Amino acid sequence: MREQTKQYINGEWVESASGETIDVINPATGEVFGRIAKGNAEDVDKAVEAAHAVYLKFRHTPVAERRELLDRIVGEYEGRKDDLIETITDELGSPLKMSEETHYQAGLNHFKAARDALDTFEFEEQRGDHLVVKEAIGVAGLITPWNFPTNQTSLKLAGAIAAGSTVVMKPSEETPFAAIILAEIFDKAGVPKGVFNLVNGDGEGVGNPLSEHPKVRMMSFTGSGSTGSKIMEKASRDFKKVSLELGGKSPLIILEDADIDEAAKLAVKKVVHNSGQVCTAGTRTLIPESKKEAFLEAAKQEMAQVNVGDPRGSDTTIGPLISRKQFDTVQSYIEKGTEEGATLFHGGSGQPDNLDKGYYVRPTIFSDVRNDMTIAQEEIFGPVMSVITYKDLDEAIEIANDTKYGLAGYVFGEDMETLKHVARSIEAGTVEINGAKGRTDLPFGGYKQSGIGREWGDYGIEEFLEVKAIKGYFK
Ligand code: NAD
Repeated sequence: MREQTKQYINGEWVESASGETIDVINPATGEVFGRIAKGNAEDVDKAVEAAHAVYLKFRHTPVAERRELLDRIVGEYEGRKDDLIETITDELGSPLKMSEETHYQAGLNHFKAARDALDTFEFEEQRGDHLVVKEAIGVAGLITPWNFPTNQTSLKLAGAIAAGSTVVMKPSEETPFAAIILAEIFDKAGVPKGVFNLVNGDGEGVGNPLSEHPKVRMMSFTGSGSTGSKIMEKASRDFKKVSLELGGKSPLIILEDADIDEAAKLAVKKVVHNSGQVCTAGTRTLIPESKKEAFLEAAKQEMAQVNVGDPRGSDTTIGPLISRKQFDTVQSYIEKGTEEGATLFHGGSGQPDNLDKGYYVRPTIFSDVRNDMTIAQEEIFGPVMSVITYKDLDEAIEIANDTKYGLAGYVFGEDMETLKHVARSIEAGTVEINGAKGRTDLPFGGYKQSGIGREWGDYGIEEFLEVKAIKGYFK
C-alpha cells in the first residue's frame, strides 16, 4: 500500500488538519492501492499563508536564479524517471511505454521549455522615459485533472516558477502520487520554503477554499467545464485572474485527396490515445461522402489492432479508463449513440472479452453520425470515434466549427494550400496538419468553451505575470 497522508506546506511534510484520508484506486484492477490526505480549508489556509509570506521575495529573485532552480528541478525530475513511470501506470493505468514516452516526457519537456524561455524572456521594456515591468502575480492556486498527471502539473509549475509566482497546488485525488513525487523533486531541488505547496484532497474540501481564498491572486485550472465555471464564479468574487484549460470535441477533417489507409491510422490514433482520455482527442472524424465505406473498413481494421489490456503487458496499446464513474459515462454515451440513430460499426458497450476486472472499454466506431447528435457534441473521454460525412470543404469547415468547444483540430490530405486553408478556418487553439509533431514552446489553450488563456513555454510564463508601467523611470 502506497501512502502519503501529509501535506507539503512551507517546505515540510505536515499533518493534514482533518486526519481523514482518500483511497486511491488502481484502474487496472479496481482495487485500492494507496491513500492520501483529505485536505480541508485549514490546510489550504496554511498553504496559502506560506506562499503569501514569501511571494514578494520570490517575485524579486534574479531571473538567472530561477533559471538555475528550474535546471535543478529538471535534474531531479530525470533522477525520478523510473518512479514516475511506475507511479503513473499504477494510478492512471497507462501502459508503461506510454507512461514513459508521453507522461514522463511531457513533464520533463515543460520544465525544460520554461527554463529555456527564460534565456530570452523580456521582463522589462523601456518606452521613452518610462519602464514597463512584468512581474509575478503573487500566490497562484493550481488545480489539475487526472488524465495527464505529470503534464498538467508540471506545465503550470514550470510557468509559475519561471515567472516568480508562489503556488498552492491541488492535483486530482485520482492521480495524486505523481504530484507527490513532484513535491519530493521540488524539495530536493532546493525550491525555497513556501514557494511550492501541495494540498491533497477533493474539489469540495480543497479546490473550493483555494478558489475563494482572498490571498490567492490567480487560479490556474485544467479540467472539466462544469468545474471550471464554478472556479471562475468563486474567483470572480474578488476578481482573481483565471486561466482555464477545459474540454474539447475536436474535429479531424480528412480531405478528398487523402490516402485513406494513412488517414484511418491517424484517426484511430487520435481517438484511442490515453484510452481516449485526452482533451484534444480528434473524436469527430469528418470524411467526404464518397470515401465513407473505404474509410470505415480501414478504420475498423486499424481499431481491431488496438490491444486493450494490462498496462504492464508488453503488447498492450491502451489500458483501462481511470474509474468506474468514467467507465459508466462512456457506456452511457455508447448507448446514447445507438438510441439517437447512429450506426454502431465497431466495438460497443461492455468490457472486452478477456477482461473482467478493471475499467476497460471496447474501442468503438460510430458511423452515420449527425453533428447534432450527443456523441458528436459532448466530450465522451473514452475511445469512441464518431464518423460524420461531408459534401464539400465548406460544409466540412462548417461542421468542424459547429461545436461549443475550440481546443484542437486536425486536417489530413495532400494539397498544402487546402490544408492551410482548413487549418486557418478551424476555430481552435491548436490545429495539426498531417499529424505533425508539436513542440512544448508552442502556445496551448482553447477558443470558446475550451478555456481562457494560453499555457506552455513563454506563453505559460505570461499567464503568471502582471504588467506595471513605471512612469519617469529614466528621467
Ligand atoms: P474535473 O473538473 O472533475 O476535476 C479537475 C480537478 O478539479 C480535480 O483536481 C478536482 O478535484 C477539482 N475539482 C472538482 N470540483 C472542484 C470544485 N468545485 N472547485 C475546485 N476544484 C474542483 O475534471 P477531471 O474529470 O479530473 O478531468 C477531465 C476533464 O478535464 C475533461 O473535461 C477534459 O477535457 C479536461 N481536460 C482539459 C485539458 C486542457 O488542457 N484543456 C487537459 C486535460 C483535461
